[in-house]
Amino acid sequence: MAHVAIKDIYKNYGAVRALKGIDFEINDGEFVALVGPSGCGKTTLLRMIAGLEDITGGEIHIAGRVVNDLQPKARDIAMVFQNYALYPHMKVADNMSFSMQLAGAPKDEIKTKVEEAARILNLENYLDRYPRELSGGQRQRVAMGRAIVRNPKVFLFDEPLSNLDAKLRVSMRAEIKALHQRLGTTAVYVTHDQIEAMTMADKIVVMSEGHVEQVGTPLELYDEPQNLFVAAFIGSPSMNLMEATVTESGLKIGSFPEIATQSYDWLPTGKEIVVGMRPYDFAIGDTGLKLDVSVTEPTGVETQVAGHIEGKPVTCLFKERVSGRYGDTMHVTPNGPLHVFDKETGQRLGTAFTVTKH
Ligand code: ATP
Repeated sequence: MAHVAIKDIYKNYGAVRALKGIDFEINDGEFVALVGPSGCGKTTLLRMIAGLEDITGGEIHIAGRVVNDLQPKARDIAMVFQNYALYPHMKVADNMSFSMQLAGAPKDEIKTKVEEAARILNLENYLDRYPRELSGGQRQRVAMGRAIVRNPKVFLFDEPLSNLDAKLRVSMRAEIKALHQRLGTTAVYVTHDQIEAMTMADKIVVMSEGHVEQVGTPLELYDEPQNLFVAAFIGSPSMNLMEATVTESGLKIGSFPEIATQSYDWLPTGKEIVVGMRPYDFAIGDTGLKLDVSVTEPTGVETQVAGHIEGKPVTCLFKERVSGRYGDTMHVTPNGPLHVFDKETGQRLGTAFTVTKH
């Protein structure tokens, strides 16, 4: 197990500035997800922790020592790749133990370690097979087994589930989370899938365009996104974002009646803001914001309504079984926390709570 510190890390590929000063810490035993859209630099950062990319500037510390100039094999890390990277001509047991064989470990020790990893991963009956004789999920487990037998200080995962179908992804993410809780090894997990990050990680680092937007627990990011980027990125369906103006006693979106809120010092009358409302935080009524329905999608447990308010796309989720089709209108009123952002800077100003007018 190990504490990892990323200190003011920069990475340039020629003129491309892939990372622009990344700073965060990973506590001993923590599972940290690096998440962000394609091209934001998460794989580059992971590969720098692994020692597979040179560091342009800054320092990476693993277990208290600077590893910038250490070879990958001297860093005591194990990496699990998206494409599994298994040796096709080796059986599962040999794939898992190859690094130990290379290191000249005693045969007994190799056998014990492989059996232990196979037991943890439910691979006991597959040790004698070749990778081509396995399903995608089983291959991914072999790749994890190979990492486990090395007993590393840090696990590095590079989008390990993206080659699996949706159902298998869900079960494998639970397996990886359970595995981490069992082994307690520090883990860094790269994904572009925010649901994967939310469900698995102790802490999430949200990245965009080579910098960190926010670091926090999944629920901190969900409840208090620090800027519009994180607000739009975390949560599925995404937070609804609408421009609004602060009035004497609330907020006003376009020409709609005011949404009455408690009063706050940070919410001065007349200020132009962007208000964020989660899809679950609406009630259907006879008055309120007019929602032009595009489509309703019932799933049994809830109904998702997609449409537009003031021409802006909006998605609402209702516990009620509402019906509606393209061209219909309904009225909705926000009834949850209102996330308030500065329209100019995109930074969070605070959370406003609605009040019912009497
Ligand atoms: P994805 O989810 O698509 O894998 P990512 O967040 O992992 O994206 P990176 O692969 O880290 O992104 O890439 C970050 C930036 O660095 C991108 O703009 C990419 O084009 C650039 N980049 C990555 N590798 C190289 C390279 N070898 N040479 C030049 N530019 C590169």
